[in-house]
Amino acid sequence: MHKYSILLLFTLIHFNFSYGQVYNSSYAEIVNKCAYDSIYKNLQQFESYGVKEIGTSSLNNTKNWIINKYNHYGYTNIVEQPFSYFGYNTENIIITKTGSVYPNKYIIIDAHYDTRKGTGTNDNGSGTVILFEIARLLKDINTEYSIKFIHFSGEEDGYIGSQYFINNTVIPQNLDIVLVFNIDEVGGVYGMTNNTIVCERDEINPTANNAASAIVTNELANCVGLYSNLTAEISFAYLSDYIPFEANGEIITGFFEKNKSTHPHTISDVFTNLDVNYVYEVSKAAIGASLHFSKALKNVLNIDKNYSFNNIIAYPNPTNNEVSILLGETKTDVKIYLRNTIGQTILTKSYEAVDHIKINIENQQPGLYFLILETKLGKSKNIKIIKK
Ligand SMILES: [Zn+2]
Repeated sequence: MHKYSILLLFTLIHFNFSYGQVYNSSYAEIVNKCAYDSIYKNLQQFESYGVKEIGTSSLNNTKNWIINKYNHYGYTNIVEQPFSYFGYNTENIIITKTGSVYPNKYIIIDAHYDTRKGTGTNDNGSGTVILFEIARLLKDINTEYSIKFIHFSGEEDGYIGSQYFINNTVIPQNLDIVLVFNIDEVGGVYGMTNNTIVCERDEINPTANNAASAIVTNELANCVGLYSNLTAEISFAYLSDYIPFEANGEIITGFFEKNKSTHPHTISDVFTNLDVNYVYEVSKAAIGASLHFSKALKNVLNIDKNYSFNNIIAYPNPTNNEVSILLGETKTDVKIYLRNTIGQTILTKSYEAVDHIKINIENQQPGLYFLILETKLGKSKNIKIIKK
């Protein structure tokens, strides 16, 4: 019935070992595009819609704003999932990005957008705007797994939106969920030092999915250290939309603020009582973690300036005849030139896509040569080669 098979657990453990987390400069380049100004403005915009309880026009207007955001980012698979609560209609918003290797396996990244008693700028405007930044920056990134960004409604009424999604989408479609990453109340407290984020793992029944949750939560904590200025603290998951997923056997993790604000669920849960810079740092950690969990493919990131040559190995060098150049990763539109010490070009070659180049200088005079590597969009690199 549920998916927490030993096989999946094994896969996750294997995944953990074989893709051990080291700082990924390609991920960091994307993380560094996280926009403080967008977060600032989006939090204020979220606040401007008012108290977002089920049955209010505030909640409906917020829903339309969220959908417009994803349209603007270029997403086309945006689904409203309506459900009703005491005669009032409301909707989950589900945005799907298809993975390149495992299109039918899903990472769910979610945040609720309904609020209670106040505008909920921390709970959960903070999670809402972080999803925007993740979705904006991952739009054109090739990920192995599919991602569903879900903005749930009805969280404050007892996870009824996420429960509805499980009952009406996950179970009937037998949706293959790799991981649920929930972001709720990460605004911090204005005036306090907000430098720690809580990474939440599953410590409740059923327990068969708890070990896998602990593994991915450790990975989440590692991403905090790698891609933000924050410190990670691991604690237990409770009181948010990952709970119905957990009960359904899924593997969950999440972010929650360390300094717990007293404002949520009151009229003072407003912009001026949270710490925008903290939301920005949590966003960076969340973007890094989303790239990591969805297995963004380093070789095909759509970042032009990424095409620099950093980890080149040339061997043997000095050489009698052939020299091999390992580029460390596949580069596209590569051109090479071999020049001698008086600037004459001895050889030129072009490659559409290449990770390994071999050149033969058997017929050249002994001495020093320069191999220049260039890409259409990036920096060039100069390597000294010695012919014996
Ligand atoms: Zn919340």
